[in-house]
Amino acid sequence: MELEKKIAILADAAKYDNSCSSSGSRRETPKGGIGHGSLGGICHSWSADGRCVSLLKILLTNYCKYDCKYCYNRRSNDIRRAIFEPKEIAYLTYEFYRRNYIEGLFLSSGIFRSPDYTMELMIESASILRKKYLFGGYIHLKIIPGAAARLIRKAIELADRVSCNIELPSERSLMLLAPDKKQAEINNSLIEAYNYKMEREKPVSTSTQLIIGASPESDKSIIKLAEKLYSRKLIKRVYYSAYIPVNNDGVLPQIENPPILREHRLYQADWLIRFYRFSSEELFEENENLPEDMDPKMSWALKNPQFFPVDIMRASYEELIRVPGIGLKSAMKIISARKYGTLDERGLSKLGISIKRAKAFITIKGKVLTTIRDNETETIALSKPKQLSLLSR
Ligand code: SF4
Repeated sequence: MELEKKIAILADAAKYDNSCSSSGSRRETPKGGIGHGSLGGICHSWSADGRCVSLLKILLTNYCKYDCKYCYNRRSNDIRRAIFEPKEIAYLTYEFYRRNYIEGLFLSSGIFRSPDYTMELMIESASILRKKYLFGGYIHLKIIPGAAARLIRKAIELADRVSCNIELPSERSLMLLAPDKKQAEINNSLIEAYNYKMEREKPVSTSTQLIIGASPESDKSIIKLAEKLYSRKLIKRVYYSAYIPVNNDGVLPQIENPPILREHRLYQADWLIRFYRFSSEELFEENENLPEDMDPKMSWALKNPQFFPVDIMRASYEELIRVPGIGLKSAMKIISARKYGTLDERGLSKLGISIKRAKAFITIKGKVLTTIRDNETETIALSKPKQLSLLSR
């Protein structure tokens, strides 16, 4: 098969994996080589279907011996199939990089023959790229659950990021929708990757993907799982991927459109856990699912009026970042600016901080600007997401 045809098939087949955002790499350009993966060297853009395109995002193959119910590439689907040779992947990445089309490679794969065999081909691709082409750019390799520990280690040696998709939030759902996959194998792969990175002090980050809406788990159980993975440091980033109905199967939910708003709310909740010091228990005090009509921080603030208002001149950093509309950078700016004088609305505006959303939750010069009740309609409206679609991912 011609290379162009393979690219068309295997780039299209890769679009269902969200866990490809690149970040955190500090790889230098090898002597006489090409590309670098430093923090400033990778930028992201998003393709028409909402996927990251600054990386060559491609599958080694869409042949797969597994039959995951939700997957376009599953064994039982009658689709066009192709497989790259490792040298083709390395050549394509190098050529695309030279032409400035991409900043790096995101390589995933269906399970071809066995997890070990697939992983070996992926490793060979990355190895040719690094050794023959002296490529110092960003490489993200998918770890195939069930692959041998020695292969996971090799992948970590070559990549800037590895990911191992958990896919479904519970073992029960995994058994139902991805019967060939084993949760123990996924967990072992994540633990092996973590142990090796720690042992060798490798700055390689690990991510995973959870499919949202293909199985019945609540937002609470999804966020609790993410919280556990973050606290154990097994994962740097969880990607939430709204279930896209591509197959007809009795065990799959009958939906027409992917639950994009739910995905968006989960990202917001994830952000609150990772950076805003919220716990999953706080976000889900009353409900198992996040509200759709407002973001989770606003929802928490409205349910916890005893916490507010906080005084803009006296509130601690921890208190400020809980105010809807005040982000991490804004909180730092407030703390820094108030050392030099009293902050009022104008002063906040000069710092680039809009208090539209925050005004029901703060006092300025000791005065309440508006009450939560008076402001409720406006605060909720401000909290609604702008138009969301697959394009916004
Ligand atoms: S292992 Fe499952 S999700 Fe991955 S390509 Fe094969 S069928 Fe699809």
